[in-house]
Amino acid sequence: DGGGNVRVVVRVRAFLKRELDRNTRCLVKMDPISQQTTLLAPVEDDLPDPKSKSRKVFEDKKFTFDSSFWSHDTKDNHYAHQEDVYNALGEEFLDHNFEGYHTCIFAYGQTGSGKSYTMMGTPDQPGLIPRTCEDLFERIQAAQNENTNIAYNVRVSYFEVYNEHVRDLLVPVNTSLPPNYLKIRESPTEGPYVKDLTEVPVRSIDEILRHMKNGDASRTTASTKMNDTSSRSHAVFTIMLRQIHHDMETDETTERSSRIRLVDLAGSERAKSTEATGVRLREGSNINKSLTTLGRVIAALADPKTLRPGAKRKDVVPYRDSILTWLLKDSLGGNSKTAMIACIAPSDYDETLSTLRYADQAKRIRTRAVVNQDQMS
Ligand code: ADP
Ligand code: MG
Repeated sequence: DGGGNVRVVVRVRAFLKRELDRNTRCLVKMDPISQQTTLLAPVEDDLPDPKSKSRKVFEDKKFTFDSSFWSHDTKDNHYAHQEDVYNALGEEFLDHNFEGYHTCIFAYGQTGSGKSYTMMGTPDQPGLIPRTCEDLFERIQAAQNENTNIAYNVRVSYFEVYNEHVRDLLVPVNTSLPPNYLKIRESPTEGPYVKDLTEVPVRSIDEILRHMKNGDASRTTASTKMNDTSSRSHAVFTIMLRQIHHDMETDETTERSSRIRLVDLAGSERAKSTEATGVRLREGSNINKSLTTLGRVIAALADPKTLRPGAKRKDVVPYRDSILTWLLKDSLGGNSKTAMIACIAPSDYDETLSTLRYADQAKRIRTRAVVNQDQMS
């Protein structure tokens, strides 16, 4: 039975230079035994925004998650390295993929909270995506060495949703042409998908990592040209794994296919409407559209009362109200085992509270994952 709640973990990062320079206080505590995360009641110095409503908060806020990753202080015994995050989450999700389940892991949090670090990482400190790619091919290699009668087929795609447009990250950026945006279609069997999206077959760790890097470079190039859109775009890296098993005795062939989705969401900070004008406003409101719709989808799924039989149209989960939620429909409320990594900065009270509340709500979502297996003969 693949019914289960969305797995929710939280990760707090170290101070950045600007925070050290300002002598900020760490407002987050984590308990390694209970996995509880505490956000400390702020004092005036902790709240740079003089209009913050949190000036009237005097109690610590406690949250319990499936894991609380303490990546704030490298000298701490409980410091969570990239490897620890992979071992606690990525590895198990890859087990599920080999069992035939679809999975999705998405990183949520304000800009600068460590989403890309957690998902992609750096060349020295690779994150969940490169570790998943490596582990995947190591397992395939091991199975092939054992002659298991399973043929493996791996394909990869990588796209971003920016301003309610889908851009293929595996197609080289051609700066002399207008951007080529892709359309979304919905198939009765496969659900929503991106039409004409590049899906490259990959046969080795090196090949998959090369595509991952090219895609990431393409995201960065476009983002530099358009004035750091990376914080405002959602990046979706997908691996399709097919396992074709031939049983010599019965002469039967079965196929298992699973989809591994790894999502680096846009920064969750609310666009400050007073600062946004012209194009920025349109971008802002559209990006808000995907993120606010995600919030509404999560709220609706977390509280199934609103989804009673015979519910009015407006009570239905509003997947189709934004590109992102439409494409992630299955991952959010359907056939998928899903995890959310809530990334938080150590000293931003208002944004951290909003992220922790969001994550707390996501814990209540249940998905119904099934093994995707077909008899072929
Ligand atoms: P986001 O993608 O959420 O905007 P980033 O992943 O780019 O944030 O992280 C912001 C900065 O913090 C980067 O310089 C990144 O290297 C650093 N950082 C984030 N998380 C960690 C961590 N766990 N350990 C060390 N550095 C981190
Ligand atoms: Mg990022």
